[in-house]
Amino acid sequence: MKTYRLASREGHPEDSIIKVNDNLTIGGSDLIIIAGPCAVESRDLYLEAALLVKAGGAQILRGGAFKPRTSPYSFSGLAQEGLEILVEARAKTGLPVVTEVMDVRDLELVIQYADILQVGSRNMQNFSLLQEVGKTNKPVLLKRGFAATILEWLLAAEHIMKAGNHQVILCERGVRTFETFTRNTIDLGAVVAVKELSHLPVIVDPSHGTGRASMVAPIARAAIAAGADGIIVEVHQNPDQALSDGFQSITPEAFTRMVIDLRRIADAVGRNLPI
Ligand code: PEP
Ligand code: MN
Repeated sequence: MKTYRLASREGHPEDSIIKVNDNLTIGGSDLIIIAGPCAVESRDLYLEAALLVKAGGAQILRGGAFKPRTSPYSFSGLAQEGLEILVEARAKTGLPVVTEVMDVRDLELVIQYADILQVGSRNMQNFSLLQEVGKTNKPVLLKRGFAATILEWLLAAEHIMKAGNHQVILCERGVRTFETFTRNTIDLGAVVAVKELSHLPVIVDPSHGTGRASMVAPIARAAIAAGADGIIVEVHQNPDQALSDGFQSITPEAFTRMVIDLRRIADAVGRNLPI
């Protein structure tokens, strides 16, 4: 038996399907598209972005209210105000929201607003956070640590599952390599490997995985072709002005074009992209 016995396909051969709400699931034959700005920056910008990505084909909204930033002087999110904007966007669009919980101390707050809890790359081995999100009943989007092996990533999922919460969605977001042209090196091989090793859904983040807007759509297409269960992508109306990750953010127009192409890839590989 594998050390990640709950996440393993051994003993659970069929794909897990994670229920987000009454009309949305992740995993199985349907693909999921999650989109929105890196961070919730302001009410007006976010609400507009939410409507634009919905029109372009997003089924779930993303947006950070608590942002892990390399520099302590960078914009670190609007915290509770950002969470309130997220739920307003959910009410306006009817789309569920995923947002990062960075710290165990914020979990009680974030859980009141989020439909899906994101555990970020930098926190993939924050075992106390994994345990605490594992005690909740919310789906967890677990991003791969940027220096984590596939085994470490699956064991991180196992921590959440062992605590009682089996609703884990894995997200490949690139790993650090010797390459500097791209922000990270996207590991689509890991998607194939994890689909083999685990029954959990796996999505791909081509935004952090490349760090370059021009590479987002091609990598998103490749991800779906490789068997990913969906993508999470950063979209901003004005990438040059974004308070975080503008360089890798695509415009709503580019997002809309990308989704049209993803539909064709989905058809080609026997997957379904609901409206
Ligand atoms: C994000 O989704 O904005 C983010 C910070 O991602 P990661 O944890 O993968 O860097
Ligand atoms: Mn980001």
